[in-house]
Amino acid sequence: MTRTWNVQTINKVGETVKLNGWAHCIRRMGEKLVFIDLRDRSGIVQVVCYKPDLDEVSLKAVDEVGGEYVLEIEGVVQKRGEKQLNPDMPTGTVEVAAKSFKVLNTCKTPPFEIDKDTIGVNEELRLKYRYLDLRSERLHKNLILRDKVETFFRGFLHQRDFLEVETPILTKGTPEGAREFLVPSRIHAGQMYVLPQSPQQFKQLLMVGGVERYFQVARCFRDEDQRGDRQPEFTQLDLEMSFVEREDVMNLIEEMMIEMVKTVTPEKRIQQVPFPRLSYKESMEKYGCDKPDLREDKNDPNLLAFCWVIDFPFFEKTEEGGWTFTHNPFSAAIPEHREQLMNQENIGDILTTQYDIVLNGYEAGGGSIRNHSADALHKVLEIMGFNEEQIQSQFGHMLEAFSFGAPPHGGIAPGIDRIIMILANEPNIREVIPMPKTGDARDLMMGAPSELPEKTLSDVHIKLK
Ligand code: ASP
Repeated sequence: MTRTWNVQTINKVGETVKLNGWAHCIRRMGEKLVFIDLRDRSGIVQVVCYKPDLDEVSLKAVDEVGGEYVLEIEGVVQKRGEKQLNPDMPTGTVEVAAKSFKVLNTCKTPPFEIDKDTIGVNEELRLKYRYLDLRSERLHKNLILRDKVETFFRGFLHQRDFLEVETPILTKGTPEGAREFLVPSRIHAGQMYVLPQSPQQFKQLLMVGGVERYFQVARCFRDEDQRGDRQPEFTQLDLEMSFVEREDVMNLIEEMMIEMVKTVTPEKRIQQVPFPRLSYKESMEKYGCDKPDLREDKNDPNLLAFCWVIDFPFFEKTEEGGWTFTHNPFSAAIPEHREQLMNQENIGDILTTQYDIVLNGYEAGGGSIRNHSADALHKVLEIMGFNEEQIQSQFGHMLEAFSFGAPPHGGIAPGIDRIIMILANEPNIREVIPMPKTGDARDLMMGAPSELPEKTLSDVHIKLK
């Protein structure tokens, strides 16, 4: 017999079905009756084991079954009596009368209760046993929401002629702003790959490659001191387009977010459409920050207040008195300031094409129109005080690529974890990342990071200090 998902039982009254799943909750009623809430990925269904109906092998199994045991049950779906209806359960109109009952695997007593909300359980314990926590309703719902959001984004972008392209994970160190994770090369002694802090350069090179519209559900890696809600690896919906202006990218993202909310979380309301736009200056003056929370009612769990922040300064002063970029060295200045940039005049006043999308007070993504001419990128690097040798060693490949007919291009990278966290009304992104790290970047489930044998280190030419 093929297996039936638990939720499908509501349409199979009178039929014999085979179910699989975990014993979510067991209630033994007197000598003859045992109720088991059987849980599978689709949900929970009540199984009634009336002992006189069972053969000897099944009887033994029913007597032995414990919480979270893995089961295979064959039985008949029947309508519940009027008084037994449970409107809080999707399968609350039916139950399954067991005919045969098999334990496929036992389960030790779990370190916390899976049939209750686990949010109050010690987080280190939850993270160590993430595979158990994933069985809980809360994390299970978040996994499903994540799948829906990502599936929506993929479909939306494919409909608009974007290509999903995978870019390398082992790459070259880039001064994009964050500290990178290093991967020592075994074959090339003393040399390192790094893990990408974002696919920024690859997606720009894909534009040079004529891809025109690229996206990727991209993992990004940043080796930063963990501030609160950061994760060393996180996911962006990374995208880039050729032959566009700032308006084109912003309009596309706005349309995508509105459609996504309608499709995936129709119970939510977007406060204002089109999304309000604030200049960085306005935002700082009015709200004292560049990610203002514009919600009229901050207690409304279904209210989403998107806005855009634009016109950021391109450069800021470094502690040493030089200049550095505020967002991204690859951004272009706004069209009115391009000449100023090329002439290196009034550097502090130059505005970048950077646009940040903000949602309920969180930065939900950022992007810009890029410099597609080698001259303009070179000028930015000069302003930042790079000498010709540094420019060539760190950015030579980009400058060269731009000299081969690079189209005008721009993009953005919405942060998927943050967006899902807000949609799920979760207090932090760890609740919506399937297998997250702790606040101090440890994977408690796998036990990473970990020490490695000396031989393994010496193979990659590493000697510990
Ligand atoms: N690469 C940028 C980031 O990670 C996003 C972008 O400009 O597209 O923030």
